[in-house]
Amino acid sequence: MKILKIDHLGIAVNSIDAGKSFWSEVLGLEFEGAETVQEQKVTTAFFPVGESEVELLESTAPDGPVAKFIEKKGQGFQHVAFRVENIEEALEELKAKDIQLIDQKPRIGAGGAKIAFLHPKATGGVLVELCQRD
Ligand code: ZN
Repeated sequence: MKILKIDHLGIAVNSIDAGKSFWSEVLGLEFEGAETVQEQKVTTAFFPVGESEVELLESTAPDGPVAKFIEKKGQGFQHVAFRVENIEEALEELKAKDIQLIDQKPRIGAGGAKIAFLHPKATGGVLVELCQRD
C-alpha cells in the first residue's frame, strides 16, 4: 500500500465546545467547523495543522464508540489516521497479511472521506485509521 501522509490525529473529548478552546485559543489553530456522522454516533471537529489535522471527537450517544473509548481510557488521544492512495487495495493487502480489521471495507466518514479502522490488537495497541480523499 502507499501511505501518503498522516492525515489526522483523533482525540476523544467529552465536549467539543469545551475541548476546542485549548486547540483554537491556546495553540491558535483554525477551527474548521463541526460535522456529525450519525452512523458513527460522533461529532467531529477539524483543526488543520500544516499538511495534517487534529480531529476532536465527541460522542452523540452513550453507546457510541467514542463514548465507550472515554469510559475505558478517559479523554485523550484516540487514533492516528494515515492517508492512503487506494483504500480498497490497502485493505486487501492487510487481509492477505492476516491483519485484524474493524472495517472489512471502507465506509464514509467526515468530509466524505473513505475510511476504515484496523483493530488495535493488530497494531500494538494503537487504533489506526486509513483514509482516502479524492
Ligand atoms: Zn479519524
